[in-house]
Amino acid sequence: MNEDELNRTVAEAQQRITSILPTINDMVEHNQRRVLTAFQHHRVSEMHMHGSTGYGYNDRGRETLDAVFADLCGAQAALVRPHIASGTHAIAAALFGVLRPGDEIVFLTGEPYDTLLPVLGHVGDGRGSLRDWGVHVTCIPLSPQGEISWDIAEVAMTKRVKVVAIQRSRGYNWRPAFSLDTIRDIVSWVKQRSASAVTFVDNCYGEWVEMVEPTHPSVGVDLMAGSFIKNVGGGLAPTGGYVAGRQDLVQHAAARLIAPGVGQEIGSYVGGLRLFYQGLFMGPHVVGQALQGAVFCAALMEQLGFTVSPRWDARRTDIIQAIAFAHERALISFIQAIQQASPIDAHATPIPAAMPGYADAVIMAAGTFVQGSSIELSADAPLRPPYIAYVQGGLTYAHVKWAVVAAAKRLLCEGYL
Ligand SMILES: *Cc1c(COP(=O)(O)O)cnc(C)c1O
Repeated sequence: MNEDELNRTVAEAQQRITSILPTINDMVEHNQRRVLTAFQHHRVSEMHMHGSTGYGYNDRGRETLDAVFADLCGAQAALVRPHIASGTHAIAAALFGVLRPGDEIVFLTGEPYDTLLPVLGHVGDGRGSLRDWGVHVTCIPLSPQGEISWDIAEVAMTKRVKVVAIQRSRGYNWRPAFSLDTIRDIVSWVKQRSASAVTFVDNCYGEWVEMVEPTHPSVGVDLMAGSFIKNVGGGLAPTGGYVAGRQDLVQHAAARLIAPGVGQEIGSYVGGLRLFYQGLFMGPHVVGQALQGAVFCAALMEQLGFTVSPRWDARRTDIIQAIAFAHERALISFIQAIQQASPIDAHATPIPAAMPGYADAVIMAAGTFVQGSSIELSADAPLRPPYIAYVQGGLTYAHVKWAVVAAAKRLLCEGYL
């Protein structure tokens, strides 16, 4: 392939996806209206943007943000906190909040995301992990097609099971994400076997990609958690995470996160909550831009001969685009090219390195305004075969398109096309 042929392929990819882009715009319009209505219903005011100090008792900004977010999730309650350091922290607070020694948690969707393995006690020294607390952890491996292994799950679903956990997004795995239709079926399967089992969803990367969230009554999940520097923060939230769901369960998570008795009542943030509110408001639009970018990326990379997941015309339930490379070198070049096409630290060259919470060396392109924010254009890859890049985010479609084209040009120059 030469550069002219590559340019023609880019134009063809853009042409091919013209039928998909409007369906994403429809989703954005629906979710944007939901956000607007929730803000108006809760009478969000300028005063809610200002920070508080000390204990933060009666911080109306914090309380209103929780109420708005709970509404958007179709949930009874929510905990949106700058004090939640990451998605992993949010998930850990939710799980440690609900589980007690002797209880069992079953992960129906295979081994969870890398950073959760130390939380379970599967890697690392295990100190402070769920296992260390006497919680029994079972992970049901997915089938080779990435589906739930129902026969194994059936046997695992004993009376002792307190939490059934589902990871919606593909994470760092070559498997489809679990749509809300599938999650609805999982919830009813669980409830038929145990009315008291709590269904939990790791909702990272899933927010705003469908019409509702997993805790909406039409899906029926009891509790979920996620990060504010992914989808919901709209690229503006500077940090933070959330837990949302049934009031009693959110209260457990708050007790774990802060302390029993004061969990939902305290927590000041002197910086003010404007970027959380504004990020929430921008979220549907930004997720739409990221999704359209992912669709373009899938169409172009597939046309260039790479295997991609999901394909450009697939229904999506997360923002991640996975691309498989035959060579480790090509993977590294691709990630470096994405970094080079970033607004921040474009001059830096990412190299594979050990990362806290990850088992394999990881290479990450994250030329982002907010450190590590993956609703901004970012690309990561654990250095293990098969060599897969996980690309996600993008504040504007034009940026994603430009960056992916630049990466394709680099692959061309280096003889991989
Ligand atoms: C990002 C992510 C996490 C962890 O979130 P951090 O904010 O990186 O701690 C957990 N699960 C999934 C599926 C994720 O994508």
